[in-house]
Amino acid sequence: MTNSVRNLDASVVEKFASQVRGKITLPGDPSYDDTRKVYNGMIDKHPGMFVKCVDVADVIHSVNFGRENGLLVSVRGGGHNAGGLGLCDDGLVIDLSGIKFVLVDPKEKTVRVGGGNLWGEVDHATHPFGLAVPAGIVSTTGVGGLTLGGGVGYLARKYGLTIDNLLEADMVLADGTFVTVSANQNSDLFWAIRGGGGNFGIVTSFKFRAHPVKNVFGGPTLWPIEKTNEIMKWYHQFIHNAPDELNGFIATLVIPGPPFPESLHKKQFCGIVWCYVGELEKAEEVFKPILAMDPIFQHVGPMPYPAIQTMFDGLLPSGMQWYWRADFFDDLGPELSARHKEYGSKIPTPLSQMHLFPLTGAVGRVSKDETPWAYRDAKYAGVIIGVDPDPANASKITEWTKNYWEALHPYSSGGAYLNFTMNEGQERIKASYRGNYERLAKLKKKYDPNNFFRVNQNILPVESN
Ligand SMILES: Cc1cc2nc3c(=O)[nH]c(=O)nc-3n(C[C@H](O)[C@H](O)[C@H](O)COP(=O)(O)OP(=O)(O)OC[C@H]3O[C@@H](n4cnc5c(N)ncnc54)[C@H](O)[C@@H]3O)c2cc1C
Repeated sequence: MTNSVRNLDASVVEKFASQVRGKITLPGDPSYDDTRKVYNGMIDKHPGMFVKCVDVADVIHSVNFGRENGLLVSVRGGGHNAGGLGLCDDGLVIDLSGIKFVLVDPKEKTVRVGGGNLWGEVDHATHPFGLAVPAGIVSTTGVGGLTLGGGVGYLARKYGLTIDNLLEADMVLADGTFVTVSANQNSDLFWAIRGGGGNFGIVTSFKFRAHPVKNVFGGPTLWPIEKTNEIMKWYHQFIHNAPDELNGFIATLVIPGPPFPESLHKKQFCGIVWCYVGELEKAEEVFKPILAMDPIFQHVGPMPYPAIQTMFDGLLPSGMQWYWRADFFDDLGPELSARHKEYGSKIPTPLSQMHLFPLTGAVGRVSKDETPWAYRDAKYAGVIIGVDPDPANASKITEWTKNYWEALHPYSSGGAYLNFTMNEGQERIKASYRGNYERLAKLKKKYDPNNFFRVNQNILPVESN
């Protein structure tokens, strides 16, 4: 049975506080309400205790404290999970934001990153060395959750998902033991964490392969929403045949305001945000067919990699209402693009949008069972995002997202990229792991038989035969 922090003796809490060096925050503390905020302003959970770990020892003590006292435990990395999986009601939040370091080895082209780092901190540290690790497209996202769930971004067609570049991780398991996992050590666990989320333990340190990326050529191109069918048809033919160096996610969106020209404000568009990581001298040639599609607006050009990685940060500050739904897609046929045009024309608030991230190139060259991330053959990871700063619009953005998703879902490949989902239950999780779920469930039984780490896209432990 799950115990509440409120039921613990003061002496038990005091003993725990004396074991850790990180800060403990309890309900009633002046900083409690700020501490329980996460990226998504819709999340309103009331944890019983926060411990902001500063080192591995703190994590070990926290796991042991949680387990020995029967507490519900959640783990917070960057706090970006839209379903609020970094927090739990009544239980203990093991907050990793005090475990931050980024150590670049320019000779080996590897990077060691703390379990609580954000991606912008990684980009900042690697850029002077002309290196980058494939990640997402918003720099305030946590390394922990994004990596353990997969990691889709601009470098994916050239260098794969974030998990495809994970070389090693240090972890604290449910029984409090500390292990290092890699292709050569605890390789079954290394397999499991490359897509299996936070189910298997707390990662205190990641070691990534970095790639030579300094300046990229990219930016947005926009077409009126009425042209969605034509642009999606062209894009589908074009992107999967383009060199791996070229990436660009296609979107339906509204231009919210500056820095875009006033004539575009508050109008709906079909847009593509490009990022080319090849030789800059070749970029103009590569972009010729794109610009030949006659976008109504384009702002593509050379820029430092961290500039494209932070392009949307200002538009998407923490604390807004956020509701999203996702699916993988193999195609972008006329019926589907007609749905995009329909729902793209009804975007309810200026920041709500839909993205389709292309998954071909290096992502698709990894076999389906090499990592738990099973949709290697899908062409797109799609996500519909309802966003608005005003809580009064929460139901409006949620309803639009659900309706858009329901219109698209019959055309989808079945599962979803779980980092783009809310908390949608077991069937959705199973569908997303396809044939890899069973192996994950057996490993869960081996490493976390009592499902201690269950505030996540949860894999239920099952007995191996
Ligand atoms: C604005 C925004 C943009 C995004 N863009 C992208 C994108 O471009 N590409 C993409 O792939 N995803 C993207 N995402 C999705 C993102 O990958 C997920 O939201 C992810 O869960 C965020 O990780 P986090 O550490 O910030 O989250 P948290 O809320 O802190 O944690 C999420 C889950 O991961 C677990 N976890 C986190 N850190 C650790 C750790 N060190 N050890 C063990 N478990 C851990 C938590 O327990 C929890 O279950 C985006 C999200 C947002 C909000």
